[in-house]
Amino acid sequence: MKPRIRSAIVQELLETGALSSFKAIDTHGHMGPLAPIYFPNPEPQDMVRTMDRCGVERLVFAHHEALVDPVRGNQKAQAAIDAFPRRLIGYFAVNPHYPDLLKEGVRNFGKLRGFAGYKILAGYYGTPITCDACVPLWEHAHEEKLPVLLHTWGGCTCAGPKQVEEIARRYTGVTILMGHSQYGAWDDAIRLASELPNVYCELTAAYAAGGFIQKMVDSGIEDKITFGTDLPWFDPMYGIGCVVFARISDAARRKILRDNAARIFRRWMSQPRKKQSARR
Ligand SMILES: [Zn+2]
Repeated sequence: MKPRIRSAIVQELLETGALSSFKAIDTHGHMGPLAPIYFPNPEPQDMVRTMDRCGVERLVFAHHEALVDPVRGNQKAQAAIDAFPRRLIGYFAVNPHYPDLLKEGVRNFGKLRGFAGYKILAGYYGTPITCDACVPLWEHAHEEKLPVLLHTWGGCTCAGPKQVEEIARRYTGVTILMGHSQYGAWDDAIRLASELPNVYCELTAAYAAGGFIQKMVDSGIEDKITFGTDLPWFDPMYGIGCVVFARISDAARRKILRDNAARIFRRWMSQPRKKQSARR
């Protein structure tokens, strides 16, 4: 089959069924089962097997359980990272409804192994990212120059465009990944990523919105987009296909699927150890 888009990356995907000249980095994942939904491959070794199949080198994730019970869930995330330190990087999940626990998590962050930054699911908790309880987290992430993944959605009053802008301007050391790219409020997402050096659009679910990837790249923010899948929710090949078959350059495809994330997470990707696959 001859692709209508002239691209070495399209060609290799069609010929080999996966990315082969470079590996993707997934900046938005989870882990473990979730009560109302059946996931066929939710455990660490299952997820790494999925990553192997799809050409994904690293996944940055917050454990599902950590979004509800941060103590147990983050412990499970730590165990998974310890088992696959070359494949998994953690977001330490916090719940602003437990401010003392949040403060303790921030205080002990330095003792964790392989965690890059934080994850806040603000809209689900009904707690704006600008709330008092989040201040220690933002101050720490600002001082240590850590990434923070947010669940952002158009119309959300907890981590919508207004709150992200306020936090990004106040804590310039933090790299904010707008999970789902303010889904639906595309123009706001593009504006924030263009105007604010520390704000990125993350593509989970947003990759499927027709024309959005091309619109972002045409708007000049190809250096400000990261790839993500919500693994184990969605198969990475679907999202990879959305990026690869978007009408953008090969340079932009590579930046979105790998290079931008490699720049953000370089510090946590540095130790060279031997290759780990799901077969252990
Ligand atoms: Zn998610």
